[in-house]
Amino acid sequence: MVNVLFDALLGMRHESAAQFLRLPGDDSISYRSFYEQVSRYAHALVAHGVQPGDRVTVQVEKSPHALALYFATVGVGAVYSPLNTEYTVGEIEYFVQDAEPSLVVCTPASAHDVRLIAKKAGASVATLGSDGSGSLGDTARGQANAFVPANREQGDAAAILYTSGTTGRSKGAMLTHGNLLSNAATLKEAWAFTEDDVLLHALPIFHAHGLFVANNTVALAGGSMIFHPRFIVDHVIRDLPAATSFMAIPTFYTRLLADERLTPEIVGDVRLFVSGSASLLAETHLAFERRTGHKILERYGMTETTMITSNPYDGFRKAGTVGRPLPGISVRICDAETGKEVPPGEIGALEVAGPNVFKGYWRMPEKTASEFRADGYFMTGDLARIDADGYITLVGRAKDLIISGGYNVYPKEIELLVDELDGVVESAVVGVPHPDFGEAVVAAVVVDPKKITAADSLMPLLKGKVAKYKQPKRYFIEDRLPRNALGKVQKTLLREKYRQCFT
Ligand code: AMP
Repeated sequence: MVNVLFDALLGMRHESAAQFLRLPGDDSISYRSFYEQVSRYAHALVAHGVQPGDRVTVQVEKSPHALALYFATVGVGAVYSPLNTEYTVGEIEYFVQDAEPSLVVCTPASAHDVRLIAKKAGASVATLGSDGSGSLGDTARGQANAFVPANREQGDAAAILYTSGTTGRSKGAMLTHGNLLSNAATLKEAWAFTEDDVLLHALPIFHAHGLFVANNTVALAGGSMIFHPRFIVDHVIRDLPAATSFMAIPTFYTRLLADERLTPEIVGDVRLFVSGSASLLAETHLAFERRTGHKILERYGMTETTMITSNPYDGFRKAGTVGRPLPGISVRICDAETGKEVPPGEIGALEVAGPNVFKGYWRMPEKTASEFRADGYFMTGDLARIDADGYITLVGRAKDLIISGGYNVYPKEIELLVDELDGVVESAVVGVPHPDFGEAVVAAVVVDPKKITAADSLMPLLKGKVAKYKQPKRYFIEDRLPRNALGKVQKTLLREKYRQCFT
């Protein structure tokens, strides 16, 4: 029997006494005892009726038990479908109806509501608390400490992750065993992960970043993780001295920088700081380097493709860029309409092909077909340009492109200029309906109140710096930008909020 992903990540080390997870206090879990725990959960899943190919929808708090459930689901040949822990019952209903799982695993606290939803979709429900309590944990206790993984080939789905779905229905991206293993192998090499690595893991595990990039890469390398239930500055500062690597979203870095306990001394043993999922300001990159001596390695990927590009581990890391395509992955920048590659340096739509690219959207063959080119390239929906050295700069999502008076405005270009204004902490630029121009540029800004008190005072400041049609026609001061759990600015909410400001 072969189970492509499970065998490579865990099966190989099922007898290893090496440490896999380090927990608060002096507790730790070896690969062997983690494998035994995974085996018990695998038997528990089967006892709850899960069969190969079934979907298992999971909304539980991050914990070693939750991680074991991920590996167990893959091991029994089922398809793991994690949900953001912030989703409300109303939101979960859509995912359960869409995925038609045979089992939904939720927290003991949400069991009552989830049962009503699951019943309608014909799914069973089991519960799992972060301490292993709940009906799934109960079934797992007393099960055998070994199991035979189900046969799964490269092209079989291992997971369905729903995209954040800011426009239209959220889509379930099917990632195969082959996709996930190839990306883990690529990252292990590209970022030089080994058995000696200790990754400080403070990301959520319902998203590709914390679930695949972190766990799969470390497990494939045989390294260990300091596993935090969530990102808490105090805890990260406490544990950084014991880590060799850290994976984060930009917000983690800005929060760490705001704490004076972040010093070169506490990161003395860290060899790699990674950032992704949202854009890292060049300023944050430089501030982090000034403070710690470390250049953050920024990379880019998405749910459908896992990681696509990365700044080099050995070599020049260019602040403000997401680096070059990872080995074995092909990227091109095209005219969105014609599909023809644009000349180097010009902005176009980023397309990608490679073993990392997903199999398609769950039960959406037409949507899937419309997002692939005939030659197999996936259209990411990101706009980007490549510089002479092959480094890629993202300029925004295609759907965030603003067309004002017939001219294209790339939000990132304006955000960088607005961020440079004295007293501006950060900004987000969006397009809103305008009676004359079709769309107009507006900017949401977070400011230092000691320096800026009135939004209108910003109005003249971009004059002469950029063409008039690109200058924001209104500024709005906000206490903070709306961000999702992965630190991405939710531009849809901003567009909604300001949509009537000119009409
Ligand atoms: P998700 O599918 O939730 O992982 O979101 C993927 C999207 O996040 C990509 O299509 C990009 O728009 C954005 N993204 C990921 N990494 C970066 C990065 N390093 N800089 C800017 N945007 C990024």
